[in-house]
Amino acid sequence: MDLGLWARLKAFQLIAHGSPGKFELRNVPDPVPGSDDVVVQVQSCGLNHIDLWAEAAGLPIPIQLPRTLGGEVAGRVLAVGSDVKNCHPGDEVAVQSNLFCGECEFCRRGDESLCLFGQLLGVNCDGGFAEKVLVPARTLIRLPQGVEFDASAALTLAGSTAMHMLTNRASVHHGDWVLVIGGASGVGSAAIQIAKQLGARVISTGSTEAKRSLAHHLGAEFVLDPANPQWPAEVRKITNRRGVDLVVEHVGGEVLVKCFDCLARGGTIVTCGATAGREVPFNLWPFFVKQHRLIGSYGRNRADLQATLEWAAAGKLKPAIDSVFPLDQIPAAFEKLRLRKVLGKILIEPFEPVSESD
Ligand SMILES: [Zn+2]
Repeated sequence: MDLGLWARLKAFQLIAHGSPGKFELRNVPDPVPGSDDVVVQVQSCGLNHIDLWAEAAGLPIPIQLPRTLGGEVAGRVLAVGSDVKNCHPGDEVAVQSNLFCGECEFCRRGDESLCLFGQLLGVNCDGGFAEKVLVPARTLIRLPQGVEFDASAALTLAGSTAMHMLTNRASVHHGDWVLVIGGASGVGSAAIQIAKQLGARVISTGSTEAKRSLAHHLGAEFVLDPANPQWPAEVRKITNRRGVDLVVEHVGGEVLVKCFDCLARGGTIVTCGATAGREVPFNLWPFFVKQHRLIGSYGRNRADLQATLEWAAAGKLKPAIDSVFPLDQIPAAFEKLRLRKVLGKILIEPFEPVSESD
């Protein structure tokens, strides 16, 4: 038997940056866990905007090529390092994509999203668009009963981002008006459901009829078309001129500026992502006169990921899955997300792994 052949596995790797970038299905060495690491057999991995940025070298983080992208991993533990106590081979797990040290000031108080030594799975190190992924054991959360791999891969990055925004960085009170930008996106589709569960009345936006329909279906009472430049005025009309208490914003650029026009006095915008622009003009006068808040949100804490999966198990948070692509169709999946033709999440599923007898 040729050990060199079966000890290798398939990974779909980015080999040159671009939009589209250049990918290649490659044989890579089988990962060997260090003492605190685990090897997870990937069952499903969500595609996110961060993958498009990594593809196009659009992140303020240098990426060493070749790189296996993909941070939203659900899978089964295959092998564990000698010091790993929290999981065993065969466990079904989700991986927290913002890898954290577990020891710094922020990690010790449960704010892993603020880790001083944080790294991004699929950016700083090889991610889940592969048959197997090597991660620190502390980043795993066991899947609760009833949460399938696909549901986990559709919720653990985008859904827990929304959970962090709505329950950690900001808060929602019963009867609040919440505006969720981009209700058919990964973050938006989860944010609508979370806000609704917390007792809010939800307004959302969607650029196509299908996206607006999905946002409605997920619980938004009103869904506006952002192509209409008057959409912030519509928000004021719906709320009887008062404006909303909270905006969940993940687009940035001009959209963020317009969100201030939708805010009630004392209202809050919580923002992440900035997919449409990272620099925005900012008028301080109405900001302090109306006592607005603008809150940054990044990634998630372990508690947010745990809550996301528990909500999924309880049926309070349902994944919105657009489509599932096999590993070798990644360029088509990236193109679909790039063209914003997506309702919910795109998932990537690896081939069946090559067995020893092959
Ligand atoms: Zn840390």
